[in-house]
Amino acid sequence: MTDAASRYLRIEVPEEHPENRVNDFREVLHSYTRDEAMLEAQRCLQCALPFCVEACPITQDCRGYIGLIANGQFDEAARLTLRENPLATSLCKVCYHYCEDACVMKGRGVPIAIRHLKRAALDFGDANLEYVPSAPRHERVAIIGAGPAGLMAAWELCLRGYPVTIFERQRAVGGQAGAIPHYRMPNHELLIDLQRFRRFDLTFVEGKAAGVDFSPEQLLAEGYRAVFVAIGASKASYPGIPGEHLPGVLPALEFLYDVNQGRAVVLGKKIVVVGGGDVAVDAVRTARRLSPGATVAMAYRRTRGESPAGEEEIRETEPEGVDFHWLLSPLQIVGTEHVEGMVFQQMELSAPDASGRRAVRSIEGATTTLDCDTVIMAIGEKADLTGISPELGLKIGTKGWPEGSQPGYRTEREGVFAAGGRSVVHAMAAGTKAAEAIDAYLSQKSGRPATPKPDPFGTGASPPHHPEGYSAPVWKP
Ligand SMILES: Cc1cc2nc3c(=O)[nH]c(=O)nc-3n(C[C@H](O)[C@H](O)[C@H](O)COP(=O)(O)OP(=O)(O)OC[C@H]3O[C@@H](n4cnc5c(N)ncnc54)[C@H](O)[C@@H]3O)c2cc1C
Ligand code: SF4
Ligand code: SF4
Repeated sequence: MTDAASRYLRIEVPEEHPENRVNDFREVLHSYTRDEAMLEAQRCLQCALPFCVEACPITQDCRGYIGLIANGQFDEAARLTLRENPLATSLCKVCYHYCEDACVMKGRGVPIAIRHLKRAALDFGDANLEYVPSAPRHERVAIIGAGPAGLMAAWELCLRGYPVTIFERQRAVGGQAGAIPHYRMPNHELLIDLQRFRRFDLTFVEGKAAGVDFSPEQLLAEGYRAVFVAIGASKASYPGIPGEHLPGVLPALEFLYDVNQGRAVVLGKKIVVVGGGDVAVDAVRTARRLSPGATVAMAYRRTRGESPAGEEEIRETEPEGVDFHWLLSPLQIVGTEHVEGMVFQQMELSAPDASGRRAVRSIEGATTTLDCDTVIMAIGEKADLTGISPELGLKIGTKGWPEGSQPGYRTEREGVFAAGGRSVVHAMAAGTKAAEAIDAYLSQKSGRPATPKPDPFGTGASPPHHPEGYSAPVWKP
């Protein structure tokens, strides 16, 4: 174990130098060495009450894998990680690590690098494992959407023996995770994760869209016994200002997908990204990498401290040559045949209210114009419900995805469920809940008890259970 003083300092996560990394899409964060991982893991207090686990939407036993890494047991750590986290190779690069916010070491110094240690478990442990389905069931289940919610539900259902078909509108799986730039996740991680699904009775049907090629109701009529709608939020939101559809205005999600897919993207020499969330930060960093000589800026209506983007992402962006403009709200995009500039309303913070919160308000008559020829709009996404029957009674989640309004994400239509999530791991948690509800529904219809979750590796060992000291989840959907 480490001495008391060194406990409070994180073993630094190796990072590519900004001068090198802004010219291409090489990965920004590098792995720990084996020894570095063990030292970092040895900082963990192995708390009797594992707040880190309670804060993880999929209840990943991170305390458990950290303890194993601290002892150099990397194979065991990899197995423990993959036992409850079938997308771990992706999540160890991109999870917003809610666990670290809850880690007791955060209050005493720097939280344990829980996500990066997951990466070490998979880098140095045997992660070439495969999931084993239970005895086959006869009820086929259809999933619409191959994002994290759909994939997690497929994992849960296939483990219980259900044959599953995933219908996906695009020609690739992963959903929005497929738009995450390669400098954060170089693109093969999801394929590595899905390799472990190889023994499942799981079929992907790509290039088929619900609402266009089929409907959830049709799938039921064709013999699927339950349908999970996991279509996420794939349609760009616009602020509703003049000029927002001029040539030169690009929706961020489409821009990021295109770049990842290697499709040609035309950017100008003066680029402004509008928005303050993680997607805006990804768009601005991607534009920086694609346009070495250009000016690249990000404009957001609130302050840096109130930006919904993660602190880690903003900190990494700062040395990459991006101009940040805080307290600017979009008013108008100017130009005749193409974007020529963008006008913003200047904002200010009001005095703190009783709760100490400071609202933003316009400064009357004060505007700022940014000279630009490209605007990337990153103010949010919403569900594309084209062709989806309103009779499902879908409600819209906090970040635009549709979900069933009944317990277990049931919709108004019997046998149809719907859910999504605001991050990869939240979407996975929703996928689990929906899959459990689907299993309960199908089991009840067949007059059998709901299926307990089997051991994912088919050893017959007792299924995953909450680790000792765990009391209740502390995360919100
Ligand atoms: C640029 C970007 C970066 C992000 N970075 C991170 C990150 O670092 N960490 C993190 O945790 N989260 C990140 N997120 C958020 C995360 O990707 C999403 O929260 C998560 O993917 C949502 O999962 P989902 O399964 O609910 O929906 P989605 O991922 O949106 O998946 C829905 C799937 O359904 C398909 N679909 C849609 N309509 C239809 C239809 N009618 N018929 C058939 N298929 C359909 C879509 O093509 C898509 O594949 C990022 C998102 C973006 C856009
Ligand atoms: S999946 Fe994310 S929140 Fe859960 S333990 Fe891993 S890094 Fe933390
Ligand atoms: S809360 Fe932090 S210190 Fe405690 S067990 Fe979890 S990772 Fe370790």
